[in-house]
Amino acid sequence: MREAGTVAALTKAHLRKSLSPGMTSGEIDQIAEKEIRKLGAIPSFKGLYGFPATICFSINNEIVHGIPSNKRVIQTGDVVSIDLGAVVGGFHSDTAFTINVGDVPSKTHHLIDTTEKSLKRAIALCLPGNRIGDISHAIQNFAESFGYGVVRQYVGHGIGRSLHEEPQVPNYGTPGRGPMLRSGMTIAIEPMLNIGSWETELMNDGWTVVTADGSLSAHFEDTIAITEDGPEVLTAVNPLLE
Ligand code: MG
Repeated sequence: MREAGTVAALTKAHLRKSLSPGMTSGEIDQIAEKEIRKLGAIPSFKGLYGFPATICFSINNEIVHGIPSNKRVIQTGDVVSIDLGAVVGGFHSDTAFTINVGDVPSKTHHLIDTTEKSLKRAIALCLPGNRIGDISHAIQNFAESFGYGVVRQYVGHGIGRSLHEEPQVPNYGTPGRGPMLRSGMTIAIEPMLNIGSWETELMNDGWTVVTADGSLSAHFEDTIAITEDGPEVLTAVNPLLE
């Protein structure tokens, strides 16, 4: 899982550098697939539940599961969320980030920063003996303190030999409740925050999830191992490898 996580981290870093206005989301998808395979892994998402691409590419009011397309051109001012996973030796990793393309208003930066910070706060609680509800509450409490909507219909998850395993890791909840974290567990935490309401809608393509009120959304995700020594972020970029 460390190896799968490193591949995902390196691919994430590569995409951050590659992304520019005028490219299509389909081109970014091809770059991602090439990179994952070059690093000796297989894309986790491609073909899973019938998903047709290596990455999920969600723009602006799209929250998650957007399908890359050679017709979708990235514009200056767009807010882009990319979600990807890699398999090595039958073990999965899962990670996501949101990035602004060119200049965006400060309130957009705040949404992106807050989503990333909410993930960091949740990761800090990935300690043996804590419960899933502690993670959930940390995200919800932080996000809602800024008035953001916390998406409820889509949640984080256990991860390992399958991309999606038990337990579910919601981004809202009650401290002290839910399954207990134990050393050796691996989970994917993925806050999705909206500038407006938490409510979502599914587009006609059957995949793309958008905010019901059309507001902007951001998404960050890491795969984390719970250890006696604390949380190990398997999908973090190691600067030495970049
Ligand atoms: Mg995930």
